[in-house]
Amino acid sequence: MILRSRFVLPISRPPIENGAVRVAGSLIDQVGTASEVCSTNAGEICDLGEMILMPGLINAHCHLDYTEMAGKIPRPASFPDWIKALLALKSHWTYTDYARSWLTGSRMLLNSGVTTVADIEAVPELLPDVWSSTPLRVFSFLEMTGIRSGRPPAAILQEALDHIEILPKGNCAGGLSPHAPYSTTPELLQVTAKAAAERNIRITAHVSESREEYEMFSECRGSLFDWLRSQRNMSDCGHGSPIQHLERHGLFRENLLAVHVNYLGAGDAERLSSNGVSVAHCPRSHAYFRHDTFPLRKLTDCGVNICLGTDSLVSVVPTRRKPPQLSLIAEMQTLSSANNSPPSEAIVRMATQNGARALGQAQRIGELKAGFSADLIAIPYTGTAKDVYDAIVYHSGNVTASMINGIWVLKQVG
Ligand SMILES: [Zn+2]
Repeated sequence: MILRSRFVLPISRPPIENGAVRVAGSLIDQVGTASEVCSTNAGEICDLGEMILMPGLINAHCHLDYTEMAGKIPRPASFPDWIKALLALKSHWTYTDYARSWLTGSRMLLNSGVTTVADIEAVPELLPDVWSSTPLRVFSFLEMTGIRSGRPPAAILQEALDHIEILPKGNCAGGLSPHAPYSTTPELLQVTAKAAAERNIRITAHVSESREEYEMFSECRGSLFDWLRSQRNMSDCGHGSPIQHLERHGLFRENLLAVHVNYLGAGDAERLSSNGVSVAHCPRSHAYFRHDTFPLRKLTDCGVNICLGTDSLVSVVPTRRKPPQLSLIAEMQTLSSANNSPPSEAIVRMATQNGARALGQAQRIGELKAGFSADLIAIPYTGTAKDVYDAIVYHSGNVTASMINGIWVLKQVG
């Protein structure tokens, strides 16, 4: 099948006017101008018309489980207050609530152009069912905490590994997510790092999300420190930043995707870079908590791979106009309107190529290239080549078409 479009945006090359992509089975076979692709191949031509055809977006951090919790927690005065409210809300939720919420979120992502998501899974029992109910490419990172339960770290890890072991093979994969430095023990971080390296499993963890977390680890003070001191052994605090904490306990390898990273200590950006750790930035969640400016320039200058995530809808500022939606395009817009924002081309790269690299999928998704998976989306466009990236970042509404693994999962043209 040959897909022709006003512009094809491979990401690794400039936009191709009157471009085409040939799809063979589940893979991309050729990318070029329509005349190049059509002259070397016979085959069915699907003319998408006035569109930008580009790789599907990669959402590098999400909590699909929490989608229908949107609007159920008032905007908190502090980060610990938000965690307390979330824990209280979760205590009333059932398996059915989580499953419905997960599926609602997955539909929002598909409609808004996401084809791959790195999702934190707090209820792993859902996975076989929900995976089979979505065409999305899902990397489900099984959440591990253990502070409240006090369970032995080895038992927490083994339970997660057992869940991963029995997951169906196919489009989706399981990973490990020690939740955050403050909600885990050093022992859990250590055994997770070891097991993931031995089994070639990817890890993601929230780190240095809030000023309170930074103060807790760096200075043994602040509201998070005060709240948790009656619940956990605090002897792991006072030895440096949260980033240093993860590094000290063995988590810093190329298989780690660090989420948020809003507060950096001296040398932290260099630590991330030299260990090949990727960072997921969630612009709307960042705005919701009124964090200090995201250190994008510092991280980029050090060569850190930065990708984008939606986080959950529990940390999106509600608007009167319409209920919030999970949308990586909305995240791109928020980043674009932030102080010292990068150009649209860099933002689009963060939402595609960089996300693929962060998930160890750089040779498979995130670009339109021969041999890559045929994960494509189409966005309406009638302009010229110079505005292609802006048109993607400022697109409003759903995408017009989406293909995953060579199969249309959404199509309203051609
Ligand atoms: Zn998160």
